[in-house]
Amino acid sequence: MTRLIIVGAGASGMMAAISAAKNNKDIEIVILEHGMKHGRKILATGNGRCNLTNKKLDKECFRSHDGEFIDSWLKECDTDKIIDTFFEFGMLTYDKGGYIYPYSRQASTVNDILIKMCESLSVKFIFDAHVLDVEICDDKTFNVMTSVGFEENGVRKKKRETFMADKVILACGGKAYSSLGSDGSGYKMAKNLGIKMIPTVPALTGLKCRENVYKLGAGVRTNAKISLYVDHEMACEDEGELQLTEYGISGIPVFQVSRFASYGLLDGCKVHVNIDFMPEYTDEEIKRNIELFSGMGHHSIGNVLDGMINSKLKDLILAHCRIDALSYVSDLSIEEIDKIVANLKCFYSVITETNDFSQAQVCAGGVRLSEIDMNFQVKRIPGLYIVGELLDVDGICGGYNLHWAWLSGLIAGRDV
Ligand SMILES: Cc1cc2nc3c(=O)[nH]c(=O)nc-3n(C[C@H](O)[C@H](O)[C@H](O)COP(=O)(O)OP(=O)(O)OC[C@H]3O[C@@H](n4cnc5c(N)ncnc54)[C@H](O)[C@@H]3O)c2cc1C
Repeated sequence: MTRLIIVGAGASGMMAAISAAKNNKDIEIVILEHGMKHGRKILATGNGRCNLTNKKLDKECFRSHDGEFIDSWLKECDTDKIIDTFFEFGMLTYDKGGYIYPYSRQASTVNDILIKMCESLSVKFIFDAHVLDVEICDDKTFNVMTSVGFEENGVRKKKRETFMADKVILACGGKAYSSLGSDGSGYKMAKNLGIKMIPTVPALTGLKCRENVYKLGAGVRTNAKISLYVDHEMACEDEGELQLTEYGISGIPVFQVSRFASYGLLDGCKVHVNIDFMPEYTDEEIKRNIELFSGMGHHSIGNVLDGMINSKLKDLILAHCRIDALSYVSDLSIEEIDKIVANLKCFYSVITETNDFSQAQVCAGGVRLSEIDMNFQVKRIPGLYIVGELLDVDGICGGYNLHWAWLSGLIAGRDV
């Protein structure tokens, strides 16, 4: 009988276990999980609703340093395959404009269904089992060195235990949101095995800005277009609901561009964003509206802008332009009006830092894809598989990171 050890009871680990159990006879599957529960991160996804995949599946939605095979994987395991897989597990899904959620709108449904499937296929879970290292003992087997918790006279203690395995799947996630389990220990294991890595950085996270006027706008949510520049070259842009915070900017469009900021800053480059706070309007239209509204008895620039944008955003823009909100529009110079319009359409902001891993939804970088074959097996180490966020693939917001976790788990489990 083949003994498969999976490290991590998260999205990719549980999917790999189910796939391995369904596709392989004569297999014993053990999942070692250092937390006390399965799928803690799954429960937090999609604001508790779990956006598990997306109808628009394109290789452009996934970023990697060597992603030439991502397209082939996506063709092999597309959105319908994931929806059908969960249907076969007994779960209905719901399509909200292409974003796929469980029909229950509860992330716990996804987690529960994976746990039930694992249990019905006799997958064994060992909790409070922190895997420290994986050792190749001979050409065929592995020693999985673990620190396992146990109870003695009501006191929780730890002991070292080595699990022998014929095959191992590393499914321990990256190091984003470590409070939900993934603490980066998978990278250390891979590194100790001589596996090549791409430096890891926080992705899908907020950006800290140099300008101190952001405090004035904290709490504002507004539609905006964000263009991110690295050393004055545009790296990425996105439009959606921007959130202004005490430290700078957040929200989906910021998350989408954040990994480029992370890598730019890591490389010591200058990183800045241009924010278009009124993407639906041209400069000329904004200017015309200011003139028009000021002639309707609104008089002050503050009053005029109140009819156009969020009032806190107005405070931020006027403070940045050093223009008093009570100034009459008729008293402002052409240059001052132009300055207001320019800042509404192209607010220049220097990015000093990204939020750290503890506040990032995913981790960019990780194990190089060139290290694994099409079945997620490490080329140099037969029997060892690496799946999920541990690999150098980060998806944009919209269900892509979980799609990657399911996809890699399904394929690796089948291959085992
Ligand atoms: C707040 C938040 C919201 C998100 N929302 C979405 C969303 O809606 N849609 C989407 O597609 N993606 C979303 N993501 C990203 C997505 O959750 C992850 O990309 C995905 O869970 C990664 O799956 P994984 O199996 O690789 O890792 P994880 O799900 O992180 O699982 C790894 C498991 O391994 C365990 N582990 C780690 N190290 C060890 C060790 N040494 N020994 C034993 N066990 C170990 C961990 O405890 C954990 O249980 C979100 C992420 C966050 C943080």
